[in-house]
Amino acid sequence: MANIVAIVGRPNVGKSTLYNRLTESRKAIVDDFSGVTRDRHYGQAEWIGKKFTVIDTGGFVHGSEDVFEAAIREQVLIAIEEASVILFVVDVTTGTTDLDDEIAGILRRSNKPVYIVSNKVDSAKQVNDSAEFYSFGLGDPYNISSMTGSGTGELLDDVVSHFEVEEEEESTLPKFTIVGRPNVGKSSLTNALLGKERNIVTPIAGTTRDAIRIHYNQFGHEFLLVDTAGLRRKSKVSENIEFYSVMRTIKALEDSDVVILMLDAKDGIEAQDINIFHLAEKNKKGIMILVNKWDTIEKDHKTAKAFEEAIRNKIAPFTDVPILFTSVTEKQRIFKTVETAMEVYQNKTKKIPTSKLNEVMLEIIENYPPPANKGKYIKIKYVTQIPGRSPMFAFFCNLPQYIKDPYKRFIENKLRENFDFKGVPIQIFFRQK
Ligand code: GDP
Ligand code: GDP
Repeated sequence: MANIVAIVGRPNVGKSTLYNRLTESRKAIVDDFSGVTRDRHYGQAEWIGKKFTVIDTGGFVHGSEDVFEAAIREQVLIAIEEASVILFVVDVTTGTTDLDDEIAGILRRSNKPVYIVSNKVDSAKQVNDSAEFYSFGLGDPYNISSMTGSGTGELLDDVVSHFEVEEEEESTLPKFTIVGRPNVGKSSLTNALLGKERNIVTPIAGTTRDAIRIHYNQFGHEFLLVDTAGLRRKSKVSENIEFYSVMRTIKALEDSDVVILMLDAKDGIEAQDINIFHLAEKNKKGIMILVNKWDTIEKDHKTAKAFEEAIRNKIAPFTDVPILFTSVTEKQRIFKTVETAMEVYQNKTKKIPTSKLNEVMLEIIENYPPPANKGKYIKIKYVTQIPGRSPMFAFFCNLPQYIKDPYKRFIENKLRENFDFKGVPIQIFFRQK
């Protein structure tokens, strides 16, 4: 299951700076690929081959000063409940404050691994100033400077010691997850699909608390549905808090092959949906979108098209995604949803024969070669699909460093036009040959 590292602490201690540092290398790669950057508070990081999701809890604290402290306390509680490891960031230049002590108190009562991160230790002189953080009773402080990155290596060595190297999947069945904001119809769809089959429940080994998988095997389709809708929340924290649902979604999403992002037709696609979409994209998951409660919309022959366009504009540049208009209560397109999820799964797992790939792509490249750079001609000689969990292609050429993003996008579009990767993020690499 997902490894989640939550960064907690009061405002201004450097949480978002640390978040950016931990996620920066991955982000650079991915943003380069998808051409997007935006304000996000959760993202992927990797250290010595172990992947994890980092969440900046501070990014979810909104509102006026008086609700601030309560909100921070709430985020800390959710972090304890949901995260695998907690980084408690404090500021060496200001020392301990009352709010720090309070957060420490909450963390001491948890039984999650907690690391005290003494931030803003920009110079060796300040190392001794961290000694006061021993008073939290949470072990040795880690001296770091989020600004320069110093000390983060030692911290990460210890943080990732809690994580396993990713194991092979125990089941070969496709895994689907329905995600979306509260009330869009996730449980209704789950029930419609599974009916009384629902009692066939397979808990995921060791992680019964996090999600359950339901085995669907009807009408010629067999898959596992990772059920988040049926999850009961474990404590007083509200399910409507964005931070909480984001944590839940990340966990479910990382465990699935195809993400079924459900919207309410009345609301359209909102910021949080777009975040989930990009998270799925970043994680190289198959994706499809359901516009549910389609029965509640007054429509004519243009309505669906207009909806589709509005959604594709918002999820750009990755727009090659199935969009279905459903009504769970009217039983419209429920089976179509299953078929489409299966198709996305097929697209995600298929392997294009190398001969076919070269036949099609080399001709396209011959007609539209990459533009020469600094008077040098770029020659692409050979292409192959790299084995992996999602489609990846390596194009071998003489000067890979001269191939620019627009050409990469051109190649991606051509791959999509010729080989149907609907719903699937694909990766393209240019390599020296
Ligand atoms: P957050 O509110 O906890 O997310 O804190 P921010 O990451 O926004 O940082 C608050 C301020 O502290 C910003 O002005 C940062 O530039 C600064 N800051 C963060 N990390 C360091 C650091 O390692 N050293 C120094 N000197 N300043 C830092
Ligand atoms: P969840 O929070 O996403 O799991 O949403 P639920 O499945 O609990 O659905 C929330 C409400 O929306 C319930 O009252 C459902 O009956 C209703 N609902 C779900 N799907 C549809 C639909 O397609 N059309 C209409 N009109 N109502 C729906």
